[in-house]
Amino acid sequence: MVLRMRQALVAAPRIFQRAKSTAAVFHAVPTSKYSGSDDPLSGSWAQEQPARREWKREEVQALFDQPLLELVFQAATVHRQHNDPRRIQLCTLMNIKEGGCSEDCAYCSQSSRYSTHSKASPLEKLDNVLAEARRAKENGSTRFCMGAAWREIGGRKRGFDRILDMVREIRGMGMEVCTTLGMLSPEQAQKLKEAGLSAYNHNLDTSREYYGKVITSRTYEDRLETIANVRDAGISVCSGGILGLGEDESDRVGLIWEMSRLPEHPESFPVNALVAIKGTPMEGQEPVSFQEMLRTIATARIVLPTSIVRIAAGRHLFSESEQAMAFLAGANAIFTGHRMLTTPTSSWDEDKAMLARWGLTGMKSFESKRLAPLAPEEAEPACEPPAPESVKEEPRVATLGTGAV
Ligand code: SF4
Repeated sequence: MVLRMRQALVAAPRIFQRAKSTAAVFHAVPTSKYSGSDDPLSGSWAQEQPARREWKREEVQALFDQPLLELVFQAATVHRQHNDPRRIQLCTLMNIKEGGCSEDCAYCSQSSRYSTHSKASPLEKLDNVLAEARRAKENGSTRFCMGAAWREIGGRKRGFDRILDMVREIRGMGMEVCTTLGMLSPEQAQKLKEAGLSAYNHNLDTSREYYGKVITSRTYEDRLETIANVRDAGISVCSGGILGLGEDESDRVGLIWEMSRLPEHPESFPVNALVAIKGTPMEGQEPVSFQEMLRTIATARIVLPTSIVRIAAGRHLFSESEQAMAFLAGANAIFTGHRMLTTPTSSWDEDKAMLARWGLTGMKSFESKRLAPLAPEEAEPACEPPAPESVKEEPRVATLGTGAV
């Protein structure tokens, strides 16, 4: 009883702050298209409002601090003004070069500095990768992402040439192609662009202030430089973060605020929940609560209204109803298939059945208006995901790992 009273006293200022901040930010969020006479099924949501820029950090914090359902309602409203809320992007991620990375990211099983289950492997063969991409496409994924556990491409010329071939071939299948290969020079970014790369993932992970507690082998500025090289080459930026690293709420706000300050909002903002891996410095971290995930997703949806907000690693930790609440709050992409880089995810079958239960459908390739459109000769009728019973699928690989993207 005494403990409960103490907890209530500790929580009271936060709750009061959240109630106060509702009034402060409500007027800043436009009203829903659903509130007028517009037909909500007209499909005319996309890009009607320009994305607001120049957020102050206090404003993002005030949004974040609102009572949770109020925040979700506002995020759902903003989502409908910029995106078709019925569409979810299905992405499949393949680890094309596992383990042996020289970086010291404290959450990652692939760092060579920690003793984990992850073993260094060579770069995958082209044919194996193309077979995985084909399988992903047949099962309804429209974006194929490839991750290599490298600090940077550096002088790996033969490996880089093979990756360029992978990009060309997969783009030739009519899929969006994304890679995450560590730090990138302007020249490497240009070559990836010429090969047809749609997006490049390079996360900021957390706030600028907390970053040094997670990674010391490269700086926040290094990360921003790679993001700038990607953007300057005309490739869409995919950049997000990880929750559950021991950061506090102001760090989650700081991450979103940093994204809002980029010269262009990222095309895609992945939100990962840490999957704590034995052998890493983060192995004892408590899992992040769903409410914190939801609060972060909803705030990101309001601040980055035209970005794809992606539920990434750790999604398997949340129930279907929780995931549906995240879609309501503006999340509009998931990783699906059989695993993330090193963590499990739901299968195509499970995910398509889940989306169908909630009245959601998969996005087509290049449906996001933030991506450069397909050239006419590349365009082909984009497929709706096949019905669950027609899906070809192999058993899930239930490996552990972080694989944050
Ligand atoms: S997160 Fe990426 S860069 Fe960091 S250790 Fe893992 S593979 Fe290397």
